[in-house]
Amino acid sequence: MQLAGSKELVSGVIKNDLCIGCGACVSLCPYFKSHNGKTVMLFQCSRDKGRCFAYCPRVEVDLDGISQYIYGRPYGTEAMGNYITIRSSRAGAAAGLKTFQTAGTVSSLMMFALGKGVIDSAVVTARDGVKGKPVVVTDASKIPGYAATGYSAAPVASGFNEAMNAGYKKIGIVGTPCQVNAVAQIRTNPMETENFTDPSGMVIGLFCTWALDTGAFLKILRDKTDIASIKRYDIPPPPAGVMKVQSGSGTVDIPLTEIRGAIPGSCSYCHDMTAEFADISVGVFEGREKLNILITRTRRGEELVQAAISAGFLEAETLGDKDISELAAASMNKKKRALARLALENKINSAEGISVLRMNGEILKQLETM
Ligand SMILES: Cc1cc2nc3c(=O)[nH]c(=O)nc-3n(C[C@H](O)[C@H](O)[C@H](O)COP(=O)(O)OP(=O)(O)OC[C@H]3O[C@@H](n4cnc5c(N)ncnc54)[C@H](O)[C@@H]3O)c2cc1C
Ligand code: SF4
Ligand code: SF4
Repeated sequence: MQLAGSKELVSGVIKNDLCIGCGACVSLCPYFKSHNGKTVMLFQCSRDKGRCFAYCPRVEVDLDGISQYIYGRPYGTEAMGNYITIRSSRAGAAAGLKTFQTAGTVSSLMMFALGKGVIDSAVVTARDGVKGKPVVVTDASKIPGYAATGYSAAPVASGFNEAMNAGYKKIGIVGTPCQVNAVAQIRTNPMETENFTDPSGMVIGLFCTWALDTGAFLKILRDKTDIASIKRYDIPPPPAGVMKVQSGSGTVDIPLTEIRGAIPGSCSYCHDMTAEFADISVGVFEGREKLNILITRTRRGEELVQAAISAGFLEAETLGDKDISELAAASMNKKKRALARLALENKINSAEGISVLRMNGEILKQLETM
């Protein structure tokens, strides 16, 4: 991987509208901070190579290198990346969940993994109004308190750095694909630190097609609802075309056309819908209320899911071919759109300067014509 420092990160990513505020460059040093979903550099740092640059999922991401590390094979042309099994799922009775975003699969799995010692800590997202903030949890009974989804981009990967700083060795994390890609870079030891061991215990990725810029989202909400008392927001399936925001002052419907105005430009460069470098990926089963889609990708991910099913923490069924094809089509659409944009702007496999992604040229050509 080509390495550089904070200067290049600021000029190449943050000032170039590529930053998604994932937090991977935060909690490493005193210089980078996250504020209202935005990442800012407080002081100059003189190092010419840094973890901030090496962990960023928006610069010099080596898809083959990561894929080799996680799956032992190069990055291919599959729409959803490497996987073992795809199921529909929901939380089982043993999890005792009362609140969740879709069907509680993620919180059940995290609770189960922490309770069984598969992980020694879990990085999940707390919500303060519309702002997301990572927290490191070590008590399984606390996980349900962080169920449900905030749509704002949050600095979740900084929670992974905090858990590493605290000495945890089997860290569990729940994140969107960009956050999972940051964690994947950390796991490959890009700074070639001596005696490095992979600090992850379980990585759960959430499907994602966009997130919202916190500041822009706040502006939209300001005249419409009491932001401080927001309890929940949901996007019902089409044709609803709205986001439902529930607060102490009641529920308001905000047209998705208006909400989309708060999507940061950075999401348009994102090729990954299903968190291809996670152990387990989870999303909404469109059109099937109270069901998730659950993808296992690694042996440890599949083992956790099987153990959770046996213990009654999860109910699951193999997904049918038609539903898998529809998911693959949506995932491939996102991938092709982003790769086309990256290619147009010379931000993939660039011969000069910083590239967002690096991948095998032959695979890129095949993806472009699929
Ligand atoms: C920004 C965003 C966009 C999404 N877009 C899609 C999509 O297009 N299609 C789709 O199928 N699914 C999408 N999802 C995933 C979906 O909303 C649910 O999170 C997923 O189905 C899991 O449901 P669950 O009931 O198992 O989760 P729960 O058991 O309720 O757990 C939710 C988990 O998400 C974590 N979380 C909450 N907010 C954030 C955040 N902002 N960033 C990172 N982690 C967070 C919490 O820590 C919690 O662990 C998106 C999620 C997010 C955060
Ligand atoms: S690591 Fe994340 S927060 Fe930092 S510059 Fe890159 S995208 Fe932005
Ligand atoms: S679309 Fe991509 S970059 Fe944007 S929040 Fe989702 S995973 Fe991150």
